[in-house]
Amino acid sequence: MPARCSGMKDSSRRARVRLYVDQDLVTGRQVSLSGSQAHYLSKVMRLVAGDCVRLFNERDGEWLGRIVSSGKNATDLAIEECVRNASSENGPWLAFAPIKKSALDFIIEKASELGVERLLPVDTQFTVVERLNLARLHAQSVEASEQCERMTIPRLDSPIPLSRLLADWPGDRALLFLDERGGGQPLVHAVDRLRLRAAGTQPLHQPGFLVGPEGGFSDDEAEAVASRPFALRVSMGPRILRAETAAIAALACWQALTEDWRTVNGEE
Ligand code: SAH
Repeated sequence: MPARCSGMKDSSRRARVRLYVDQDLVTGRQVSLSGSQAHYLSKVMRLVAGDCVRLFNERDGEWLGRIVSSGKNATDLAIEECVRNASSENGPWLAFAPIKKSALDFIIEKASELGVERLLPVDTQFTVVERLNLARLHAQSVEASEQCERMTIPRLDSPIPLSRLLADWPGDRALLFLDERGGGQPLVHAVDRLRLRAAGTQPLHQPGFLVGPEGGFSDDEAEAVASRPFALRVSMGPRILRAETAAIAALACWQALTEDWRTVNGEE
């Protein structure tokens, strides 16, 4: 049974540094950070014994850790108190055709900040990027999640072909297909339609978004997606947006139109 947390106090707010650690966070336990995390604490943030850091993971929530020793290769911290309870963060999924490195990094970072729950790289006919460094992309999403104070890290899948994405897509999750070729409905209308489908249940079921590569979708691909009962073809206006712009704009619209951005610190 996870600990009931005391809530953020001044002491925890003073702990500016927040790190994701997959070790058990329990009062009295010690965790040892090595590699890039130890380097970040001692060399970049110049923290020393006695300083506090916020540590979190999906299982245990967020805890205050106090540095007990900080060496060249490892930093040991004593876990003191829980400041935020673990919480699942249901969010939209983002299926995206891999694009060039800097734009892809942008998508991963911004999608993490915008509450995406699952990132699904999809190989499409015009995808030009051959290989994805998933470890690097995962590290990007962890860093963005630490910074934006979310309590979970987006799940990052391995790349699959578009046909497989469609075959495995859960029928109860709408797929908002961002189709640059026109003919899609405005995103606001798609959200209204999802609201009607949900018959006003709150919160609205989270959808998935599908964004194509720099070369867009082929006619066959667009047909294959649009023919699925769970798919809604969506237009993002009259201009052709870069993939990263379309992805982030769609996610921002979704969060603004639904409950995520309508609550402030969890209250309406
Ligand atoms: N082949 C296009 C560019 C594709 S943009 C061209 O004519 O140059 C990359 C992806 O961003 C698209 O596949 C689509 O998913 C999304 N996108 C860009 N502009 C969009 C728009 N106006 N409406 C919906 N999706 C859009």
